[in-house]
Amino acid sequence: MARADSLARARTLDRPEVAYLVRFPTADGTRDMELTLAELARDTDWVSERLRRHGLGAGQRALLTASGFEGFWGHAVIGGLRTLKVTYGIAEAMGWDHRRTSVFHRELTPHAVIGLSEQTLEGLAGTTDIGEMFRPTPVVLARPSAVPVLRAVGVSACLISAVGPALALECPERTGAHINAAEWRIGERGGQLTLAAGEGRTSPLAETPLGITGAVVTGLCACGSEDPRVLFAEAN
Ligand SMILES: [Zn+2]
Repeated sequence: MARADSLARARTLDRPEVAYLVRFPTADGTRDMELTLAELARDTDWVSERLRRHGLGAGQRALLTASGFEGFWGHAVIGGLRTLKVTYGIAEAMGWDHRRTSVFHRELTPHAVIGLSEQTLEGLAGTTDIGEMFRPTPVVLARPSAVPVLRAVGVSACLISAVGPALALECPERTGAHINAAEWRIGERGGQLTLAAGEGRTSPLAETPLGITGAVVTGLCACGSEDPRVLFAEAN
């Protein structure tokens, strides 16, 4: 009964609001920022809507390749897949785990592969024709440095990337990766991206240069979203 007692008691304790401590690179070092459960829930809603617009829905399967330290956006993607009732598998995005990506891709025949890295592609290239592997996959969301590798072999990949503590996710129009304007202020100074937390964000972040070379496009996207879009120099 001691266990039941302690569980009952634990239920009466306050739950911490912080879901993650996000550590991200900036132009002049690294930065830590809190991510609350409420913020994570809003991020998850945004990702769900973005994935829905890629045609993801109930009964489909997806493969997510991400690293543990990327949980701050990986968790939002997983939450989005669950919301959409998409069955998913997870492989590590570092090169040494490329075989897991290969096995999941073969066994799941996923509708979407999310988070493909250049390192995973390098690992796969030793034994696999990457073009043959991913051309039949309807939705491929890849990191900036992986996108040109995929496009060179005829895979029409879209971008997904962490931008500091935010997530950028390209829509099927492929005109830059959207960032949630309700949560973030993305900017560009001297060809480098800057980011600040929006007013609704409880975790503060003043405008911070991220050390990422890129540009920002504003205005209505053909997909109907007014969320600004990021163009990564690395993806071209
Ligand atoms: Zn769009």
